[in-house]
Amino acid sequence: MAERKNVPSSAPSSSSSIGSSAGPANTASPASTGQRSEVGGAASPASGPLSTTSPSSASPAASGSGASGSLSAAARGRILLVEDEPDIVRGLTDVLEFEGFEVVAAPDGRTGVREMVEHGADLVILDLMLPDINGYQVCEQIRAKNQLVPIIILTARGQELDKIRGLEAGADDYVTKPFSVGELLARIKAILRRLQRVQPASQPDVLTIGSCEIDFKKHTLTKNRKTQTLTFYEVELLKLMSEREGQPVSRDEILDKIWGIEAYPSNRTVDNFVVKLRKKLEDNQHHPRHILTVYGFGYKLVP
Ligand code: CA
Repeated sequence: MAERKNVPSSAPSSSSSIGSSAGPANTASPASTGQRSEVGGAASPASGPLSTTSPSSASPAASGSGASGSLSAAARGRILLVEDEPDIVRGLTDVLEFEGFEVVAAPDGRTGVREMVEHGADLVILDLMLPDINGYQVCEQIRAKNQLVPIIILTARGQELDKIRGLEAGADDYVTKPFSVGELLARIKAILRRLQRVQPASQPDVLTIGSCEIDFKKHTLTKNRKTQTLTFYEVELLKLMSEREGQPVSRDEILDKIWGIEAYPSNRTVDNFVVKLRKKLEDNQHHPRHILTVYGFGYKLVP
C-alpha cells in the first residue's frame, strides 16, 4: 500500500488546484482530461446522500488506462470525503480513485459522522464549512468514536485560527483552499506511509516524560490521572524526538522524516504541532521543561 507508482500523462493532473472559487467554471477537475463527462453532480439523487465508488464505476482508474490495473478500488485504503461542494467532491474523487483509493463522499457533517461510525474509513478529508454541523464538530464526533483515524481538514486561505482550532478538535493535518491536488495527495500518502511504518524494536510502547505517561500504541497521554488523546502527528513527533532524547532535532529533519519533502509542509507546521503537544504535556506551556526550543534550529526532548 505504501509503494509509489508512476502516473502516466493521462492521469488527472495533480498540479491543478481545487476549491479556488465557488463557481464551477474555475475548478480544474480531471474531467478536463476528457476521460469523464461533467454531467451530473457527484452524488446523483438516485444514489442517495452518499456516493460510493464501485469497481465498475467509470473512474479513470477503472477505465483501462493501465495505470492501476492490478489495484482494486480499495487497495490503498478507503477515504471518507466530507464536503458539500460538488465540484471539489467530483475532482477529488476522480484523482483519488485514479490513485487506487476507494472514495466515499458525504455532503454534510452528520452524514459523514454516520458513515464513519457505520462503515469506517482509513482516512478522512473534512471540509470545515458544511451545511449542517461545522467541521470542528464533525472532527470531535469522529474522534469520540475513533481516536486513530487520520483526519485532514480543508480550511479557507489564511485562516490560521481555523487551522489551530481544527488541530485542537483532533485533526491531524490541514490543507488550505484553494489547494493543489498534488499537495493533498502527498499529505495523504505521507500519513498512510507513516501509519504503515514498522516501529523500531528499540522503541518502547510507553514513554514517561515528566509526570506524563505516553502510550504510543493507544495514542494517549495520561497526566494527573487525566487521559487525553494524541493525534497521529503528535505521536510521530514524540516518537522521533524520543529516539533522539536529549539531542536537538532540526525542523528540517522533522519535516523530512514525518511529513516527507513532497508534502510541502512548512516550518510553521512543525511549530503548530509543538504548541499542541506542549499544551497537553507541559505544566506550563509558556515555560516548557520537556519540549525545548533550540533557537534557529528545532526542538529537543528532555524527559
Ligand atoms: Ca464547504
